[in-house]
Amino acid sequence: MNEAMTFNALVIEKTGESEVAASMESLTVDQLPAGNVTVAIDYTTVNFKDGLCMQSRSPLVRNYPHVAGIDFAGTVEASDDSRYKPGDKVILTGWNVGESHWGGFSQKARVDADWLVPLPDGLTTRQAMAVGTAGVAAILAVIALEKHGLKPDHGEVLVTGAAGGVGSIATAVLGNLGYQVAAVTGRPEAADYLTSLGATRIVPRSEIDTVSKRPMESATWAGCVDAVGGEMLARVLGQMKYGGSVAAVGLAGGSSLPTTVIPFLLRGVNLLGIDSVLQPFPNRLEAWQRIAADLPLAKLDAMIQPATLADVPRLTTDILQGKIKGRVVVDVN
Ligand code: NDP
Repeated sequence: MNEAMTFNALVIEKTGESEVAASMESLTVDQLPAGNVTVAIDYTTVNFKDGLCMQSRSPLVRNYPHVAGIDFAGTVEASDDSRYKPGDKVILTGWNVGESHWGGFSQKARVDADWLVPLPDGLTTRQAMAVGTAGVAAILAVIALEKHGLKPDHGEVLVTGAAGGVGSIATAVLGNLGYQVAAVTGRPEAADYLTSLGATRIVPRSEIDTVSKRPMESATWAGCVDAVGGEMLARVLGQMKYGGSVAAVGLAGGSSLPTTVIPFLLRGVNLLGIDSVLQPFPNRLEAWQRIAADLPLAKLDAMIQPATLADVPRLTTDILQGKIKGRVVVDVN
């Protein structure tokens, strides 16, 4: 076998009825799934969903062997699609890549051209993966809040799960846009980090992570980017200012929503659903353009925790336990 034809990938195999194990394997391009663009990956990252995909009994992965990794950025190596040619820099997020289609924990991937976005001017592939799916979701949340009328002079915007990936990017973008950002964290040691990103107030998680006996509390937040869900989201809904909107991005604290309809009926609160996976191409392009324009790169660089493919099994376990601060950037080469 020609050495240049092989590449490394972190392959998950079934090892029992419901157990899986990941190991580094040498693959050839013809083992990759069908697709019309082959990408030599520069960087991938570790998102919360990657943690779920790497677990045993993951409901997200149906077929093994599997290569996880829900996003990547790299260079087109071969293309049967007129929109892309060898040498083009591209980003992939979403489309169930890393779940039902092999993903980014690999040195190469083959995907559908419709799923790709050209790397925006001003970003490197490393910076694009520092943003990654978490960052795309964060910026989609900010865009959704703006479309529902949020302006910096309306008051404080709450970001939950602030020291995580979605929360870090949301904090940095909102701070840069001139918002007062109240950052919820369960890690007091992350306060300086969050302030450096743009937070103007730190809210201890314990103040807000259980439902209140009252359906509404004092009207405090003009908007919210919520990465946590569960009881925290229910609590936040009852603390929104009149007409304020909450962008529901994540479920790091749980998928239930033990709330009442009172905040919607009496304060006109809006709950906006954010999905980054199946966003149409124009919306993804807008998201990346806004990232390039509104996310200060020095702050992005401060979020980065560098890693290699060999680190991924440990990091995907850590992210499910809320132990990752900022964004992991995996150099696959
Ligand atoms: P991270 O693990 O990086 O961040 C999650 C953060 O939530 C943690 O850092 C922690 O922040 C906080 N947290 C963790 N556990 C709890 C808990 N039990 N109670 C309260 N807070 C908790 O994950 P990501 O930022 O990558 O993803 C966040 C969420 O967003 C996930 O649920 C993910 O699936 C979802 N997501 C959704 C997308 C979409 O398209 N809708 C796209 C990308 C992500 P701290 O330590 O500061 O308290």
